Amino acid sequence: MTNSETHTGGARDAGCLFCSIVAGEVPAEIVARSEHTLAFCDLNPQAPLHVLVVPTAHHPSAAALAAAAPTVAAELLSQTRAVAEQEGYGDAYRLVFNTGQAAGQTVFHAHAHVLAGRPLDWPPG
Ligand code: AMP
Ligand code: ZN
Repeated sequence: MTNSETHTGGARDAGCLFCSIVAGEVPAEIVARSEHTLAFCDLNPQAPLHVLVVPTAHHPSAAALAAAAPTVAAELLSQTRAVAEQEGYGDAYRLVFNTGQAAGQTVFHAHAHVLAGRPLDWPPG
């Protein structure tokens, strides 16, 4: 387990990629900001719209964020809608929160994937 996986949340995690993006130290294509969140394009997009919305403070997963900072979790959910609408996909988009390694989480800083712009199959793989 890395430090960012075990970090209990709230501040910055030194070894965390998304904390570095929030700090402006790693470049990203920023599409929106709110008081406690940042939205930027996924580096490896899986759909015409593929944006990640993250809390600006480090929380290792969506589960940890919901437990530690429910108001920020609510703000993040609102931002996913704002981003989908801003980018022209407000009518149909998918939110994904991979939570835990076995569920596909690879970056252990909470993030919502906002995906849209192509048919999205169900069930997901
Ligand atoms: P997950 O697998 O749910 O943890 O999602 C992590 C996402 O972060 C993946 O979709 C990656 O493509 C994306 N990603 C990794 N590095 C970067 C980066 N430097 N900038 C933007 N997105 C990234
Ligand atoms: Zn982080």
